[in-house]
Amino acid sequence: MSDRIWNFNPGPATLPLSVLEKAKEEIPNYQNTGMAVMELSHRSKEYAAIQNDAKSLMIELFQIPNNYKVLFLQGGASLQFTMAPMNLLTQGKAADYIITGSWSKKALKEAKIIGTANVAGSTEDTNFNRIPKQGDLKLDPDAVYCHITSNNTIAGTQYKTFPQTGNVTIIADMSSDILSRKINFAKFGLIYAGAQKNLGPSGVTVVIIRDDLVEACRQDIPIILQYKTHVDNDSFYNTPPTYSVYLVKLVLEWVKSLGGLAAIEKRNREKADLLYGTIDDNPDFFKGATEKESRSFMNVTFRLPSEDLEAKMISDAKAAGFGGLKGHRSVGGIRVSMYNAMEPQGIQELTEFMKDFARKNG
Ligand SMILES: *Cc1c(COP(=O)(O)O)cnc(C)c1O
Repeated sequence: MSDRIWNFNPGPATLPLSVLEKAKEEIPNYQNTGMAVMELSHRSKEYAAIQNDAKSLMIELFQIPNNYKVLFLQGGASLQFTMAPMNLLTQGKAADYIITGSWSKKALKEAKIIGTANVAGSTEDTNFNRIPKQGDLKLDPDAVYCHITSNNTIAGTQYKTFPQTGNVTIIADMSSDILSRKINFAKFGLIYAGAQKNLGPSGVTVVIIRDDLVEACRQDIPIILQYKTHVDNDSFYNTPPTYSVYLVKLVLEWVKSLGGLAAIEKRNREKADLLYGTIDDNPDFFKGATEKESRSFMNVTFRLPSEDLEAKMISDAKAAGFGGLKGHRSVGGIRVSMYNAMEPQGIQELTEFMKDFARKNG
């Protein structure tokens, strides 16, 4: 496997090598069924065990309280942008949205099609290079929920503490930092995440919803779009994305083998310290694209002295075995996406490459 690169793609993203090897080994004949997982009936006991294990591991590792349900849905985080307001934004009510990047804007756009959605805060004036301060938020105490994006994959910012919203429950798009750190569930009524950054491959979306929100959901919308449908059927209302769920299960087993969430959180912090440290130690060459207190531990964005040097760094890096470093087209520069599965050694080697590149080109 020495031909694998250090893959910093923002999503779909790198997966643990041990997970890929295990999946490969199990492909022709999963546990003596004579079939691959993708050939199993979703009604078989073997597949039911896979999905149940994935759910139990999610609950165990993320320490999800028992008044929440864990669902495996399809349609990506993008479907959740509309499914959440469809279910919860009832007539006569309003929802708050905090806008910290392109994904929050998309979520807001969908909510506005469904009902009344207000912007309770935005950092668009500085091109989303920061998370708004509590004092800058104009929160509606009667909002039905407040929607946030916990980690901004494109801009490279992340909430370090979540907004104080009083009695208003938070809905969070955690697509790019779910299971990367401990969170206090008490603040959240609904959390959703496409799997392809921190949990596995694309094709499955994890939704974690509190029981009282399930009960409050509208039941006059299409059946497949009701959270209650999926809760009542334990995510088997229609055929689940079986192979994606299987890979999520393998990734969660891998997280557990590393020592669980506390170990993952420590590992992510160490990777971030190393990479941001390298940026800050070379201020004439590397310039962080975000404010220090808002820096994401998952997506690190920075600029070089010129666009030509950025292009050179991306191509030299590629030749040296580091892929996926080009910043999003709306931001430019360099973006290092380093989700849970990125090995510390990958960051170690990348920072050596960066120091060398700065020395030669500075
Ligand atoms: C990638 C991403 C999305 C989009 O996810 P899809 O699965 O493509 O719908 C939404 N929100 C955030 C924060 C993301 O990183």
